[in-house]
Amino acid sequence: MAIERMNFEQDSREDERERLISPEMEVEDFEGEVSLRPRVLEDYIGQEKAKENLKIYLDAAKMRGEPLDHLLLYGPPGLGKTTLAGIVAHEMGVQIRVTSGPAIEKPGDLAALLTNLQEGDVLFIDEIHRLSRQVEEVLYPALEDYALDIMIGKGPSAQSIRINLPRFTLIGATTRAGQLTSPLRDRFGVMLKLELYSPQELALIVRRSAGILDVACDDGGALEIAKCSRGTPRVANRLLKRVRDFAMVMGKDLVDDEAALYALKKMEIDTSGLDNLDRTLLRAVIEMYGGGPVGLETLAAALGEEAVTLEDVCEPYLMQMGFLTRTPRGRCVTHLAYRHLGLNPPQQTADGQQSFEDLLGKQEG
Ligand code: ADP
Repeated sequence: MAIERMNFEQDSREDERERLISPEMEVEDFEGEVSLRPRVLEDYIGQEKAKENLKIYLDAAKMRGEPLDHLLLYGPPGLGKTTLAGIVAHEMGVQIRVTSGPAIEKPGDLAALLTNLQEGDVLFIDEIHRLSRQVEEVLYPALEDYALDIMIGKGPSAQSIRINLPRFTLIGATTRAGQLTSPLRDRFGVMLKLELYSPQELALIVRRSAGILDVACDDGGALEIAKCSRGTPRVANRLLKRVRDFAMVMGKDLVDDEAALYALKKMEIDTSGLDNLDRTLLRAVIEMYGGGPVGLETLAAALGEEAVTLEDVCEPYLMQMGFLTRTPRGRCVTHLAYRHLGLNPPQQTADGQQSFEDLLGKQEG
């Protein structure tokens, strides 16, 4: 299976790169991930609902001898969208071409990609919500009729010619399905949502990766790493490698719960898997905005972070853990978050908001 990653975008934000539990892909992950990625559906742990349906669609497509319908995968970064695209290609016995929305700058770039596909191939476009309008226009007939409409010449003498393409499967991946234009969304026959993983599923992933990396890791060690991986396999794999480093320096040849807990503490990742940025976010909502509601942009400006980082990276996990809620008026922290930070939660006010005065009063009292 050939994997071609075109103009793979590296995250330019230094602070993101320093964040150990960022689910964004980093260079080390990409180099290491090739071997850690499951290749067949059987090895793909968790996501039972998506897997079950996908298996049926794959079997049906194979029985008909046709390529799989175009597939949209959505969910937070690091949950296994690229991996699943590779698995689809492998299961269908075809090649996969990998690219991303921002890498396809002009309609000509997409035309070049499409005309190089073989019958049945998978074209994987990561961050598909970032395709430009002009590029999207070229994609529509390609998806619907397996054809490219090319304009030759300009002005009144311009002519449109149609080039037939091989039948292929587009797999689009996005962290924000809501930002897809509806004509593009409508052209996907299958949409699968990937959910954050449970600690038990992540522990299985850690054990599997440890086996591949030849790291001795017991159940306790895997579970401690899993509990702090914010529901994300990419984070779990990265933490495994770092915990292994700590274990080695501690003179241990086994990643057990002791090594994992020690390493996680040193990395300032708390028992709920929150890192400094998560805690700073929760504290900011509490200390600067009385527990909320506060708008995302305001919060991002107050923290000096990009709104998209908070929304894609911090919020899904903080919400899953029940520390943060989204309301039409903005983000609010929950009583659980107060307690997690060692603060007394305020009384609920009549309109359901939490008052900071209450919080201060309680702390002083
Ligand atoms: P995404 O494309 O959603 O950002 P990736 O497919 O790149 O995520 O997955 C990130 C890493 O997590 C991969 O290295 C892969 O090894 C691992 N991974 C993801 N999902 C699974 C899974 N279900 N089972 C095992 N490993 C997984």
